[in-house]
Amino acid sequence: MKVIVIGSSHGGFETVRGILAEKPDTEIQWYERGDFISFLSCGMQLYLEGVVKDVNSVRYATAEQMRAKGVSVFVHQEVTSINPDEHTVVVHNLDDDSTREEKYDKLVLSAGAVPAQIPVPGGDLANVYAMRGRDWAIKLKEKTVDPTVQNVTVVGAGYIGIEAAEVFSKAGKHVTLIDILPRPLALYLDQEFTDILSDTLKDHNIYLAPGQTVKSFTGENGQVSTVKTDQAEYPSDLVIETAGIKPNTDWLKGTLDLTDKGLVKVNDHLETSQPDIYAVGDSTKVPFAPTGKTLQIALATNARRQGRIAAKNVLGDDMKMPAVSGSSALSVFDYHFASTGIKEGTSAANGILSQSIFVTDTTQPPFVPGKAGNQKVYFKLTFDPGNHRILGAQIMSKRDVTANINAISLAVQTKMTLDDLAYADFFFQPGFDRPWNIMNVAAQKALHDLT
Ligand code: FAD
Repeated sequence: MKVIVIGSSHGGFETVRGILAEKPDTEIQWYERGDFISFLSCGMQLYLEGVVKDVNSVRYATAEQMRAKGVSVFVHQEVTSINPDEHTVVVHNLDDDSTREEKYDKLVLSAGAVPAQIPVPGGDLANVYAMRGRDWAIKLKEKTVDPTVQNVTVVGAGYIGIEAAEVFSKAGKHVTLIDILPRPLALYLDQEFTDILSDTLKDHNIYLAPGQTVKSFTGENGQVSTVKTDQAEYPSDLVIETAGIKPNTDWLKGTLDLTDKGLVKVNDHLETSQPDIYAVGDSTKVPFAPTGKTLQIALATNARRQGRIAAKNVLGDDMKMPAVSGSSALSVFDYHFASTGIKEGTSAANGILSQSIFVTDTTQPPFVPGKAGNQKVYFKLTFDPGNHRILGAQIMSKRDVTANINAISLAVQTKMTLDDLAYADFFFQPGFDRPWNIMNVAAQKALHDLT
């Protein structure tokens, strides 16, 4: 059997890895249009802040390592079209501009997404950057040490925008963070958390401009110098657009069924509308555990799960994509937060009636000094007030307690209730936590308040 895999990031890599793990003698052709395989944008902040020194190390594997496993890796070669009836793809070799046809038995697409460009004048000016992939990582790194760059404007205060703002604040630049939403990280955290993080961002010389719509980028001599919003103008030597992503699927129009947002439609086995063609990653939706509906959640974790499931189905297994909860975590200077599932702020958009309980505590018993790591912890649990089902949670502390959110993710996936969580067994040792884990405490308090 010959399998063609398109895209070498998380989804593509896991598909190839999954096939190799189960049937290493499968003929695999793996295509990447860039000149580098399997770069992890997730590691970009670590590189930009100098924690990781070599940009080329921010990846899963080299082409040579994968070729040694028998995979035919094609770099700088773009698949430009698919003929599902003939089971062929057209490949454009970007080095010599030649094209050729390749036949497949099974085809897996992990073409991902590109940063969305805000549709305003001036987006083509020099120094209007994005933050995704190795090429942007190299260009952004240069700007962190460029003395002509003093004012950096980040457009989009989601987790990528926060990473960008933190990088350039640590590099000594004056950063402005603009978002159309009223709070930074509004889709990841409720206000109890973002109020604290907003103060932290301001303490680090990041000027917040929430609730503002960008109207244009303007400049002189072809280079950006100002970002204009509906409320103000911000001097900008560098602009970083982190306002969402656009699925990389224009080339699939008319071949595969796409949603109105351009995502590839897949069933629960990750099969597209054409036989023997599967799709995974940021250009697809995933089943969302709290609602049972599908949702666009662009995360490496989802892409890798899908890649593994696609590999199994390609090889003849019968496996459904499990529901996920969109669990994610991030550090914002001294704080570490994680969230999963439904929040108070995303409940209505998901068509869910929910209730939440917010609790604060210390990570350890009072006798443990802060120097030994005892810190304040903030936790919010969201549940269905009717049947008590756990729907999601958020946690934040200066101590890293983010792993609790993995337990809540499992609770959401397995449809646990407040009653289950209230007395669930979690360990205690004063060096780590308290006799009642904060998840127990929140569930017990929610049950008390409901009675
Ligand atoms: P992509 O990563 O978009 O890759 C698609 C690949 O396919 C590209 O290399 C592209 O060149 C190639 N390609 C596309 N079309 C073709 C074609 N026709 N022919 C050949 N090649 C093609 N997620 C997390 O879970 N945790 C994190 O901490 C995290 N941090 C992130 C930080 C940043 C700055 C960014 C930008 C993203 C982060 N993500 C994180 C999200 C994660 O990177 C994405 O969800 C993930 O990359 C999606 O993988 P993918 O395989 O769908 O596609």
